[in-house]
Amino acid sequence: MYAALELERALAARPDFNVTLVNRENFFLFTPMLHEVAASDLDVTHIVNPVRKLLRQVTFFEGEVQSIDLAQRRVRVAHGAELHSHELEYHHLVIALGSVTNFYDIPGLEERALTMKTLGDALELRNRLIGNLEAADFECSIGQREPLLTVVVAGGGFAGVETIAAINDFVREAVVFYPHLSEELLRMVLVHPGPVILPELGEKLGAYAQRRLAARKVEIRVNTRVQGASERGVELSDGSLIPTNTLVWTAGASGHPLLETLPCPAERGRLVVNEFLEVPEWPGVWALGDCALVPDRRTGKAHPPTAQHALREGTVLARNILSAIRGGRRRAFAFSTIGQLAAIGRRTGVARILGVNFSGFVAWWLWRTIYLGKLPRFEKKLRVALDWALDLVFSKDLVQLNTAKSKRTVPLDARADVRTA
Ligand SMILES: Cc1cc2nc3c(=O)[nH]c(=O)nc-3n(C[C@H](O)[C@H](O)[C@H](O)COP(=O)(O)OP(=O)(O)OC[C@H]3O[C@@H](n4cnc5c(N)ncnc54)[C@H](O)[C@@H]3O)c2cc1C
Repeated sequence: MYAALELERALAARPDFNVTLVNRENFFLFTPMLHEVAASDLDVTHIVNPVRKLLRQVTFFEGEVQSIDLAQRRVRVAHGAELHSHELEYHHLVIALGSVTNFYDIPGLEERALTMKTLGDALELRNRLIGNLEAADFECSIGQREPLLTVVVAGGGFAGVETIAAINDFVREAVVFYPHLSEELLRMVLVHPGPVILPELGEKLGAYAQRRLAARKVEIRVNTRVQGASERGVELSDGSLIPTNTLVWTAGASGHPLLETLPCPAERGRLVVNEFLEVPEWPGVWALGDCALVPDRRTGKAHPPTAQHALREGTVLARNILSAIRGGRRRAFAFSTIGQLAAIGRRTGVARILGVNFSGFVAWWLWRTIYLGKLPRFEKKLRVALDWALDLVFSKDLVQLNTAKSKRTVPLDARADVRTA
């Protein structure tokens, strides 16, 4: 998106340029606020922007990239309800496919775990939490309430911690509307393989986050891994079994499967590029973001897969394409992480900005201010700010947005399973 935005500026002056952005969804997702959708803090559409409102000159093509033929300079895209194919030709190709969730072949995980990567994931988690409260509230669930009222989040990185913190607040606030349930019946578990959560922020902030979450009754299981998921629940490496039907897996990412089909070097599932973001030996092919291994000349390592890097890579990459076309000097990508922030619920947060640690309300306020500033388009900023302001007055919404429900058919003769109490 940021590469396309930069190219769009050049398009106004060069009508002979033709830029096409292909994406499987017609919107741009702002991932830092995803957990707020799962926890009913924000309306579902407020953290996404329609591509067509962001880009006016670039051609947008909603479709699924099926294959990339670097030798023939062609990209095949499946499109439309019946998924017919289009072949797009190019002079320059930017590969920015992101990453996919890695389930590490852990038994039952892929089939049973929810993930936190897309807008659909956040919506599914929100629906599951509300659906479980609805099911548990009724008398027929007595004796089966435990798995319905227990949530396990695997992965104590940013996504996992922000998710458990937000949904813990949500469910504890929501439970008062369910007369047969009480807060004591709820169980929220965060499973993390390392000794302290949020390792990117250092031990001190990680330990602080752990204390705050524990004070809000989140059970934190450090030095523990998920070993399997089944209809009985989640099996952990310490031999325990947590009965639950809600496991959220945030503990692994791997390379996009399309990259494996390309004749280019990749490391740890990411395409190797040079400091100009070009794929070596394939002139006109560029890559960025989570799917690219971008060398950091200062550290000798690769730049981390974060949005703050990806969007800046997009801008540099677009300028380098323009230099390649017009002639001119290409710019090497150089950037150091400015800061990292996590919201940990109930108006508290943890942050490290330019090497300085912040925690508590100040960190939470910084989180909101910084991310609100980064959310694209004034309209969405205003909608999010209003959601947050109204949150001070009203309780969180409990509406289940289940789009599949109208298609569900319940057999009319399902009387064999009638429960009386
Ligand atoms: C829950 C969560 C919270 C995060 N919070 C932060 C944060 O606070 N700060 C931060 O810096 N980073 C954060 N990140 C990381 C950040 O979102 C990523 O680093 C960033 O989005 C990477 O950008 P990208 O363009 O490489 O990939 P993506 O943003 O993943 O974009 C890839 C796009 O390609 C599309 N796509 C994939 N395959 C196909 C296909 N075959 N055909 C068509 N389209 C396809 C996808 O639908 C997607 O739109 C977070 C990530 C998550 C999941």
